[in-house]
Amino acid sequence: MSKKILLYAGYLYDGGELKEHVTIEIQNGKIKGIHNGFIEDDDAYIEDKREHFVFPAFVNTHTHSAMTGMRGLADDLPLMDWLNKYIFPVELKLVNREFINTFFPLALVEMIHSGISTFADMYFFQDEAAKWVKKAGMRAVLAEGVIDFGTPNKKEVKEQLAYTEDFIKNYKGDEHVIPSVGPHAPYTCSPELLKKSWDIAEKYDVPYLIHVSETQEEVDIIKKRYGMRPVEHLNALGVLGKRVVSAHSVHLNEREMAIFKEKGVAVSHNPQSNMKLASGIAPIKKYLDMGILVSLGTDGAASNNNLDFIDELRTASLLQKISLSDPTALSAEECLKIGTEEGAKALGLVDVGKIKEGYVADIAVLDLSSASLTPVYNPISHLVYAASAHDIDTLIVMGEVIMENKKIKTLDEEEIKEKARRYSKKIKDLINEG
Ligand SMILES: [Zn+2]
Repeated sequence: MSKKILLYAGYLYDGGELKEHVTIEIQNGKIKGIHNGFIEDDDAYIEDKREHFVFPAFVNTHTHSAMTGMRGLADDLPLMDWLNKYIFPVELKLVNREFINTFFPLALVEMIHSGISTFADMYFFQDEAAKWVKKAGMRAVLAEGVIDFGTPNKKEVKEQLAYTEDFIKNYKGDEHVIPSVGPHAPYTCSPELLKKSWDIAEKYDVPYLIHVSETQEEVDIIKKRYGMRPVEHLNALGVLGKRVVSAHSVHLNEREMAIFKEKGVAVSHNPQSNMKLASGIAPIKKYLDMGILVSLGTDGAASNNNLDFIDELRTASLLQKISLSDPTALSAEECLKIGTEEGAKALGLVDVGKIKEGYVADIAVLDLSSASLTPVYNPISHLVYAASAHDIDTLIVMGEVIMENKKIKTLDEEEIKEKARRYSKKIKDLINEG
């Protein structure tokens, strides 16, 4: 839509300031201007949200989208049991192109409803996923997961890396799909694999998505194997830098934090997944105080168990407060910044994450009409502490309205949900067969 959009905002958080009664002018995918009052223009498409709260759309920096297919399949287990006894075997047996084409779009539906414009995904068959990202009109950093013992897509690491490189070549420069590299973790990838992945990321100048120090058990495994802690191990291999998005990063000591700061590594904090798997509490306030870039991720729906980004914001804030016995820790506004602007920075996006002139028009709108959001004193407080994904009303990505009044315009939500229900019967049968 190259047609001009005028978005009337009752409340606007532009990434720095809270404003009231403004018109956001959007053209050619960008924010052209912000005007006081609700201006008229017969040639423009009017998006009238004068009773709503308008804010920069969310950036989810860590997920495994198609794991919506395993939502609730195995719960209440420690990470290593959950991964080794359930997730990895189920993935090797069940995850194929049809699985991705069923459950990846389901995640997109959920994320759009949650106000997410952009996400980073590490999973398999990313060539299938990429088509859905484009169809949905979202933006995604997609990394094919690479793992020593093979993936559902490619058994040998050589094939996994070749697939990654082909995928990068096919999508480099695409508006919607930012290809990247996804070595799963230091405990599932050999030093050689971590280095080879790094070389590809450097060669094509793309992000490097990895899980780091999610659990104490992982730290112990790496110490035993390499005589160093995970971040020291990665640093010794020369695979840390600004392009790294380090998921979880719960168990870092002071030295490792200093390495992250020095190398410019971005952390993706996944509080709900960390709580559910009892992995620990990442010292987010400390990271922020040290100047480490912190962003927010939902992780996959098998360990969360939803992709509600508002839930994640609230959890992030509450977890810092309780763990530090400090109610001032991680304020609502700080959380919102982490979930928007800082997420964009973590993924290397320069003009995303604020609603300011010249920025890409990635905008979410919160409906303030529900009982739980009444009355309104501070809409940022409502967004973080009182709202849920069900209150997200409209989503604009790159100047295109992809959800309006809670109806997704780019995907057939009912058809996608029905397909997922049908497919889940197959998963049940396969599991029952053992
Ligand atoms: Zn993960």
